[in-house]
Amino acid sequence: MSLEIRATSANSKLKCCKERKKRKVGVSKTIQLRCPKCATLAADPRQFRCAMCGAVHEVQVGIGHLTPNDFIRMRQSRDLSIWRWSDFLPVENRSSIVSLGEGSTPLLPAQRLGDRIGIANLYLKNDTVLPTGSLKDRSNSVGMSVGKELGFATASVISTGNAAASVAAYAAAAGMPSVVMVPKGTAASKIIQAHAYGATVIVVDGRFDYEVAELYKKAVAEFGWYDCLSSNPYRVGKKSYAYELVDQLDGALPEWVIHPTAGGTGILCMWQGFQDFLKLGWIARAPKLVAAQSEKAAPFVAALQKGSASIEAVEALETVAESIQVGNPAALGNRALAALRESQGTAVALSDGEILEAQALTARLAGIFAEPAAATSVAAAKKMRGQGSIDRDDIVVCHLTGHGLKQPEAIQVPEDEIRPIAPTLAALKERVRRGQDSDR
Ligand SMILES: [Zn+2]
Repeated sequence: MSLEIRATSANSKLKCCKERKKRKVGVSKTIQLRCPKCATLAADPRQFRCAMCGAVHEVQVGIGHLTPNDFIRMRQSRDLSIWRWSDFLPVENRSSIVSLGEGSTPLLPAQRLGDRIGIANLYLKNDTVLPTGSLKDRSNSVGMSVGKELGFATASVISTGNAAASVAAYAAAAGMPSVVMVPKGTAASKIIQAHAYGATVIVVDGRFDYEVAELYKKAVAEFGWYDCLSSNPYRVGKKSYAYELVDQLDGALPEWVIHPTAGGTGILCMWQGFQDFLKLGWIARAPKLVAAQSEKAAPFVAALQKGSASIEAVEALETVAESIQVGNPAALGNRALAALRESQGTAVALSDGEILEAQALTARLAGIFAEPAAATSVAAAKKMRGQGSIDRDDIVVCHLTGHGLKQPEAIQVPEDEIRPIAPTLAALKERVRRGQDSDR
């Protein structure tokens, strides 16, 4: 309760940019945008990139005043969304919060799956249950709350899947129109969800990383849209992964956290979340982070193998892991790469075969239907255990970042299961026998 009072009381709409340079919230929470490269402070909270060097700003939230009692208060909060951790999130007024109840997703011990892949303490963080079915909701709840607070009128994104649906849903919840741009050829199934939430979906005759991205950039400048890509520094909701894992494991920190990775926001934010708790002395160490990638689009794996300090763009080839088919994580890639290294973690490339096998194992042995991209975390755990980099008794957390129904065509249903049978007991017996045979 004290938090709510602090966060709302001393707030007033500041009029000029200069005053907002360091937004003071209540007695102690401060929010500012700072360039992680040249340390310049943003003059305007709407300025996402550094005016000096062009780097994406980092949002800093003052947490020095927090005490262990605050930690207890947060853990005991009846708000189970990511907003129980609002002291760490860059929103001034609780009245700005746009939430659909995202957060506190189940952390499930997966005994049978763990037995199969040789990991005794395997946990699945089930983000398939988030409001729009993917992890993007963590980012967009925070992003849209700040967008509303800063007075933006229209939210926008380019995407072919999960981000589009999530931005559209949170814009709807915020009462803000949204625009989603997709490349020509995008399957209707990918844009149905965004359309359902009321987004204006615009199909552009061009390639995603090139013409569409170029036009999108111009459109954001022209129309003043609220850009919800990873170049928006306020989308730090995935820090909540760290807070939730510490809370849910009740002090037993994992050795490894494996996260399906495209642009690197998840790895970077999670690392920042663990750093927050380390700085406050609420944990003694952080886990090793692993970026799970499709081998068809694995710039993090390539950079670590080469020992490069920065990410080189690769051509993203078609992969069953559609949601992480990103070859050029330009906005945050280098910082996510540094986070992987600081954590003593790594990046793992998976074949489509390994990914689909992990998807099937996760569904059949743990009861969770995750999309192929999400199952890369389980595929990476299996691979790393096979290579001996994960020990049998390590605590391993795999993030399942999107629902299987997001990409139903990845599942091949056998002809025999679709063909109708005659409505007789004899036909049924025969069909059941065939089914049992094929399960063996
Ligand atoms: Zn700079």
